[in-house]
Amino acid sequence: MSTSTLPPTSSSGLIQIESIEEQIRKRVAEERARLEREAGITHRQVHHFHKPIERPFTKDQRHKTTLLFGGLTWKHEKLVHGALEGLGYKTEVVPTPDVKAFQLGKEYGNNGQCNPTYFTVGNLVQYLQKMEESGVRREDLINNYIFLTAGACGPCRFGMYEAEYRLALRNAGYDGFRVMLFQQSGGIDQSEAEAGLDMNLDFFLNLLNGLNMGDVLNEVAHQIRPFEANAGETDSVLDEMIDYMHEVLKKKSPWSVEDKLGAIAGKMPMKGTVNYLGKFLEQLYAEDYVKALNHCRDRFNSIKVDRFRVKPIVKITGEFWAQTTEGDGNFNMFSFLNREGAQLIVEPIGTWIMYMIHQVVQKIRDTKGLEEGTVAPPKWRLDKQAKIEVNYRQKLMKLKAAEVIFAREYHKIVDALGGTAHRLVDQYELQRVGHPYYNSRAGGGEGHLEVAKNIYYSHHELCHMVLSLKPFGCMPSTQSDGAQSAVVAHYKDMIFLPIETSGEGEINAHSRVQMALGEAKVKAKAEYKDVLGKIGKSVDELKAYVAEHPETTNALYRVPKYKGVIGLAANFAVHVAEKIGAKVPYHLEVH
Ligand code: SF4
Repeated sequence: MSTSTLPPTSSSGLIQIESIEEQIRKRVAEERARLEREAGITHRQVHHFHKPIERPFTKDQRHKTTLLFGGLTWKHEKLVHGALEGLGYKTEVVPTPDVKAFQLGKEYGNNGQCNPTYFTVGNLVQYLQKMEESGVRREDLINNYIFLTAGACGPCRFGMYEAEYRLALRNAGYDGFRVMLFQQSGGIDQSEAEAGLDMNLDFFLNLLNGLNMGDVLNEVAHQIRPFEANAGETDSVLDEMIDYMHEVLKKKSPWSVEDKLGAIAGKMPMKGTVNYLGKFLEQLYAEDYVKALNHCRDRFNSIKVDRFRVKPIVKITGEFWAQTTEGDGNFNMFSFLNREGAQLIVEPIGTWIMYMIHQVVQKIRDTKGLEEGTVAPPKWRLDKQAKIEVNYRQKLMKLKAAEVIFAREYHKIVDALGGTAHRLVDQYELQRVGHPYYNSRAGGGEGHLEVAKNIYYSHHELCHMVLSLKPFGCMPSTQSDGAQSAVVAHYKDMIFLPIETSGEGEINAHSRVQMALGEAKVKAKAEYKDVLGKIGKSVDELKAYVAEHPETTNALYRVPKYKGVIGLAANFAVHVAEKIGAKVPYHLEVH
């Protein structure tokens, strides 16, 4: 470097460091530009992606705006529909996606997405197209309808759903159609985001009530259907009960201090807190829902069942959407399995909600509640250390309270519906069994849950077979598959079948399931035969007792679970033998 290009020196004679840095940067940039010119590389202007600015949904639009939503089962959707109507929203459900929706998703969306993206995105486009065909003007669809969906910030493709919806809508000619998110990781009060949709405590309580009721009613129907004495009766009672609960949810107005105290409420100090507490206590202790659910229990219980049918129990796991949807998105797997003679344990949405709370608890524990980049105070600053500790414990306490309250509310519904549905599996137990195979801190999709549920249900003898429904192109499910090889190698008796779901290949998938189900059937029959041999009573003797005790053929009659016995027919045989007075070599399962 020649002295003429040396940077200026300070009065103390020291070279100014910044100036040297600047000069180096400049020289490097010049040299890079020269080399790029020589190599013929030209630079295009970079346009970063910005989330499009969407027209807001304001409160004064509420009366003429319809919220569209979907993506669950028709039972959940109908109940959530009632719950949202109860809050004064105009709401419509986008029906279960079919293959046509999948094809539209491929046509209008990006390539290389996972299966649920194509199905759900295409389904919205299909719904709007059908509305237009039925006479609704396109501009009315754009102005007076909003699609409400869950969202996240990754790490799997779930984080891209919102952008995918917008892209497909634009490509299909619905540019400007509004998509609203309630974030997977969002807090409870998102009301400031869109005043038209008030995501307040009433909103979340109603939503959770609708989802939880949908979970438990759905499970009860799954328990009864394979054993019903009159084919089709369970579905007809289920239809009736979902309609009934829809009306109950719709008619229930949210608790408010104004309704209770009238004009005095206006002068009340801390009115907001009182209102909040009142709503909360109403949720915990009011009996309205319990009474309505008891009515459903009695209707279900009037169905007569034959528990001597030997059925393999199939536990459904997999990716959230693929294991929930009841249509082409998972090859109509549930109705197929029912036709093939299986009893199903489907996964409640409640497990997913508990999983999300659990993951936040883990994160807070790992980080001690500190945000990324926070610089820890020195050890001698006891005041600051104490503040961090208090904050951390407060955060943890709130989340632990949320876990307890959510489980309590879920189990209240289980009990009100006769107590036969499963209780939510403890997330800490799932973490304990799943973590050795799949790091429980690895987020995205179902995380460690796919592996953990497989182990939990097989190891606790709750099913004969686990069927995992995983969409093609699903990153977390693909990782799970790798880990499942180790699981299957360790748990030798397990019958585990992963099925990749897509818009095509239904026949192939069904035939693979049939093969695994064949094994599960053999297992269930062998178990039943073994039980009959050990209890020392013939089927005729057992049936004679049942004929004399008609209450044992009621759909919600509680059959205990015995250790080492999986199937309902086998457990029922042990139970009836005990009632007759036989000494059975089985012990009750205690959980
Ligand atoms: S979990 Fe899998 S299928 Fe579901 S959104 Fe993520 S990548 Fe797609």
